[in-house]
Amino acid sequence: MRDRLGRPLETLRVSITDRCNFRCVYCMPKEVFGREYAFLDRKELLSFEEIARVVGVFAGLGVRTVRLTGGEPLVRRDVERLVAQLASIPDLELALTTNGALLPQKAQALADAGLSRVTVSLDSVDDAQFRALNDVDFPVDRVLEGIDAAAAAGLPVKVNAVVKRGANDDGIVALAERFRGTGHVLRFIEYMDVGHTNGWRLDDVVPADEIVERIGAVWPLDPVDPESPDSTSLRWRYRDGKGEIGVIASVTKPFCGGCSRARLSAEGRLYTCLFALRGHDLRAPLRAGATDEELVETLRGVWTKRTDRYSELRTSDTAALPKVEMSYIGG
Ligand code: SAM
Repeated sequence: MRDRLGRPLETLRVSITDRCNFRCVYCMPKEVFGREYAFLDRKELLSFEEIARVVGVFAGLGVRTVRLTGGEPLVRRDVERLVAQLASIPDLELALTTNGALLPQKAQALADAGLSRVTVSLDSVDDAQFRALNDVDFPVDRVLEGIDAAAAAGLPVKVNAVVKRGANDDGIVALAERFRGTGHVLRFIEYMDVGHTNGWRLDDVVPADEIVERIGAVWPLDPVDPESPDSTSLRWRYRDGKGEIGVIASVTKPFCGGCSRARLSAEGRLYTCLFALRGHDLRAPLRAGATDEELVETLRGVWTKRTDRYSELRTSDTAALPKVEMSYIGG
């Protein structure tokens, strides 16, 4: 099954909650996501059974990787029960993206339930800077403990760091130093224009080239061939053999041409682009008793009409258009 630009559907990102235990200043700022913010009601969320059913239908259409996200996926109660349900679907790689805060207590249960790997978002290894970024005064050591707990449970770990100029770009080299030689791949993510845009400006983006230059000046790097045409990250290897880094350069080197990802929101809306304004409601047909065949036809209809390539069209004008929140769609 291909979309209008010839792209297959391979990866599904599933947001399982719009709530988070952090208030990262660039993602869920307290001024917007305060006490009055109307998060989704429990009954509005897809149940684990509904998620597993939709994922099963997607798997039948060729999806090979499912990534659980949020909000913060580990704040959804009994998330390991969902992992176990999804792990019973054959030939599916099951990943999860987390801020790592609850990993110390959850990592083993997630691994036991059948999770394949984990990505931990960590934007700074400087405790004061990290506490200021997450804006709930959460200590960096606890996230590092979570990373260790995941590795000890046998889960391969990647670490993702969003870089925003003036907020944490002075910590790029320290992040690289912390994860060199640990076996965990560190990937930097260019800061994007999502959600409540919060005054996004191109100047806030530290381009991939600059990130690589800054690290390469300390530890020389060689480029590595991409894993697949769908790969989101540009890769470099430390010349001294201490592992590799990646950069997800959605802004300066967009990769829409290889994008084979769909996104399902916590309330069951299907988005074919991170920057889409509206999603296609799957919850209504699910709850109205649609058959698997009917769901397949709906998904096929949505995917085969897909033309999205926002990042390739981005300008300062499009950046100001309304967009879905990152905490809603899950990145
Ligand atoms: N809470 C989980 C986590 O921290 O990974 C999953 C959801 S979170 C929205 C997913 C990722 O989106 C995090 O790595 C976060 O830093 C990133 N993110 C949020 N806002 C972003 C932005 N404006 N540009 C780039 N990445 C962003």
